Amino acid sequence: MSCVAIQKMTLIDFPRHVAATVFTRGCPFRCFYCHNPELVLPEQYAPEISYETVIAFLHKRVGMLDGICITGGEPTMWSELESFIKTVRGMGYAIKLDTNGYFPDIVSSLLAQKLIDYVAMDIKAPLNRYSEIIGVSIDTSRIARSIELLQAAYVSGILADYEFRTTLVKPLLSVDDAAGIRDLVSGVPHYYLQNFVESKHVGSVNGFEPFTALEAKQFSTIMQERVADVVLRGSFLN
Ligand code: SF4
Repeated sequence: MSCVAIQKMTLIDFPRHVAATVFTRGCPFRCFYCHNPELVLPEQYAPEISYETVIAFLHKRVGMLDGICITGGEPTMWSELESFIKTVRGMGYAIKLDTNGYFPDIVSSLLAQKLIDYVAMDIKAPLNRYSEIIGVSIDTSRIARSIELLQAAYVSGILADYEFRTTLVKPLLSVDDAAGIRDLVSGVPHYYLQNFVESKHVGSVNGFEPFTALEAKQFSTIMQERVADVVLRGSFLN
């Protein structure tokens, strides 16, 4: 498994950085609202680009970019993740990792070696509803462990910053789920509630729709009981 795509520049994926985004393929989850089946489903996999091509591109961009966002799929399944990070950190890049948190041992190893600067982790649902949202049965203690690892790394100064984020999508989630998520993530510096958007792969035809502005506000208010910085992302209609 290797990288499958590069977004050559982004100002929004990695806070306070001008970054490139590297996409990896493979994911153990099957979220019903996933927008990236070509990164998740083996029968729809996009063609790979070689490791050397990615490294050569990033080498040329030294001085123009200052960060790399690694996303997926699920990047912690990528066998070359650690060596890739070590190589590009050697070029001076800061690293943001996007993850679903299902491989805490990988996250722990990267943190222990101080190889990542920022982590964005998806919180799909309260733990007792995870499997309903992601379409497969999983060991949710692995999600809880990743949450704890990030919180501890941030408090100890190993990790400069991190965020959790939840996609607000009906009818999979409702305002009733906010308290369960709030209790899971208290103390996180930033929490993003991103509203569902339709894509060519998934939308109202599948029965999914975004939260209304009122529902998002109610969800946010409950989260704010334990999280200082709750941010709504996307558009919200009444
Ligand atoms: S974790 Fe992300 S990439 Fe994997 S299936 Fe869910 S939405 Fe798609």
